[in-house]
Amino acid sequence: MKYAPLENFINGTHTSSNAATLEITSPVNGQLLSSVPLSSTDDVQTAVATAQAAFATWSGLTLRQRCDVFYRYRNLLQDNLDELSQICHEENGKTIGESKAEVLKAIELTELACALPNIVTGESLEVSPGFDCSIQQAPLGVVSCITPFNFPIMVPHWTIPMALALGNTMVFKPSEQVPLSANRAAELLTEAGLPDGVFNVIHGDRSVVEAICDHNDIRALTFVGSTPVAQAVYARATSTFKRALAMGGAKNHLIVMPDAEVQHTASNVAASACGCAGQRCMAAATMVAVGEVDHIVDQVVEQSKALVPGDNLGAVISANAKDRIEHFITEAEEQGATVLLDGRGATVAGYEGGTYVGPTILDNVTADMTIASAEVFGPVLSIIRANDLKEAIDLENASPYGNAAVVYTQDGQVARQFADQASAGMIGVNVGVPVPREPFGFGGWNDSRFGVGDITGRGSIQFWTQAKKITSHWVE
Ligand code: NAD
Repeated sequence: MKYAPLENFINGTHTSSNAATLEITSPVNGQLLSSVPLSSTDDVQTAVATAQAAFATWSGLTLRQRCDVFYRYRNLLQDNLDELSQICHEENGKTIGESKAEVLKAIELTELACALPNIVTGESLEVSPGFDCSIQQAPLGVVSCITPFNFPIMVPHWTIPMALALGNTMVFKPSEQVPLSANRAAELLTEAGLPDGVFNVIHGDRSVVEAICDHNDIRALTFVGSTPVAQAVYARATSTFKRALAMGGAKNHLIVMPDAEVQHTASNVAASACGCAGQRCMAAATMVAVGEVDHIVDQVVEQSKALVPGDNLGAVISANAKDRIEHFITEAEEQGATVLLDGRGATVAGYEGGTYVGPTILDNVTADMTIASAEVFGPVLSIIRANDLKEAIDLENASPYGNAAVVYTQDGQVARQFADQASAGMIGVNVGVPVPREPFGFGGWNDSRFGVGDITGRGSIQFWTQAKKITSHWVE
């Protein structure tokens, strides 16, 4: 085992659990990395009680005092960039470059929290002679964050710095498939000066999530994962009157118009479909090829051939994921799709224990095929042919999801019509992965998001606080 068995991180220290454990193997090469406890409801109780006890002191600090911790934490993320990237690469399977990009994004998210003293200025007005009204943003109490396997560092940082800097304390449940970076982040937060008990990591699976949803002392939670689980978590958490925001899966459509710039579009589409081995909720799943664009399709295939498993294309998370993705490809072929590039059966010399799928492109996919609607979550691009922009927009609108939608064109009117009519929370115009940079918030629509608002950016300030309105009159 490369690393020591993991424990929960409660009250500023690694804390053992009597629970059963799960072995963690690396998708890169099958190496046994560590093991993780599948914590019990009692462990959740302990973590919540610890966070509850830490709340009064932490929330009693000024915002500026709390942000001092995050200035130091931001620098620790930078100082430990290589180590964190290595852990992310080993536990998730993405390339070192993609792992570094994740840590850099976590730094950017932490910087927004550091800027809070310049943003949360509150409001105050003399509303009638001698009467003042003011608004303060107060923290909620103990909150929780539950995350998926595909971004072990970035997605937790969508919420950790903002929720904590705004005065809440947290119980964090990372994906049991990628638990290593969570404990390292907890150690770095402690090193940055975060008081014990403010941030607690509780490892586990479904039963831990359900215990979090049911716990009456948790006031709010964010969840990120697949749509069926996001729906279940949203329903269960709100049934105990929590504030909840649950981000779900995606099936993003990239519309390619005949006037699109060829090389830019082709490399962008290939990178969007295959980056992070297609395990991104912002990945291109479907390219809608409008009219005569065979010259662009040819280039997408050429660009995708340059993506080599184990080199510039990482592993998928597990053998189960590899089987599932390859099954989708086979099923699409049987249903009539044309396989332009076939990534099934990929292996990497020297890394035979790894789980790789090569870049795959399927042409002539039709709306009735399984692959046209299922979330494949692998480096697989389906091409659906459309006659005109309206047909392409109708295809996008028919998807129950709504994370990203993209158009490639050189015509401003076309871009504008698409941006107006696409049913998605994040629109790209000649941008294949239109993730908004902070402080523009991240958030989809439809079955990609349950709850109100975005998970990052300015909206998250509202999510993690409650407004206190104070009316004062001082009699002379
Ligand atoms: P997942 O839904 O299987 O797991 C997410 C979290 O929920 C994990 O912590 C897991 O332990 C827990 N969980 C799993 N099953 C559960 C259940 N039945 N009840 C309660 N909790 C449960 O997701 P995943 O496979 O880890 O991640 C991939 C998914 O996440 C994809 O669908 C992807 O699109 C989605 N995702 C969405 C966004 C977004 O912002 N919309 C971002 C990243 C990933």
